[in-house]
Amino acid sequence: MEQTPSMTRLVRELMRLPGIGERTAGRLAFHILRVDRDYAQALAEAIVAVKDETRLCSTCFALTEADPCPICTDETRSAETICVVEEPADMLAVERAREFRGRYHVLHGALAPLDGVGPDDLKIHPLLVRLRGGEVREVILATNPTAEGEATALYLAKLIKPLGLKVTRIAHGVPVGGDLEYADVMTVGRALEGRREM
Ligand SMILES: [Zn+2]
Repeated sequence: MEQTPSMTRLVRELMRLPGIGERTAGRLAFHILRVDRDYAQALAEAIVAVKDETRLCSTCFALTEADPCPICTDETRSAETICVVEEPADMLAVERAREFRGRYHVLHGALAPLDGVGPDDLKIHPLLVRLRGGEVREVILATNPTAEGEATALYLAKLIKPLGLKVTRIAHGVPVGGDLEYADVMTVGRALEGRREM
């Protein structure tokens, strides 16, 4: 017996998700078929809502539903320190550590010349514009301790130091080759605390 056209369609769409092969997609599709309609509706709506309502903060490029984002408009947070991270998930990891009370800048990637990712593909230019605004005193480079993350930190330090700002790099509390997103809260806290001037 063949699958129904709507099942085939769902399996095909699920298979487009990262890490989902045909077997897993099939299992998920059968699961969705078994659950009540309200859940199926809620799942479908949540997927569309995240596309419709989530955008990037025009200042720090974090994911947000309000622009500027709640962190950029939070007056209790210092505008003098900016923590530069690769991805929105890294920013959430730093936030979970509850160590940092400044603002952020999300690059949306790291320099990877071999994969064709250059400075213009990241949010580097808007960062420099922001830094020239005069409010910022310290930039914490919290890119991942991978080859790409280190290269990005060095590249940024070279651009930022001539602006007369303090540039620091998070300590290697984060495992080398690791990802900030998956580091535990204590590790991220210590990495921030132990940052060194570049
Ligand atoms: Zn923001």
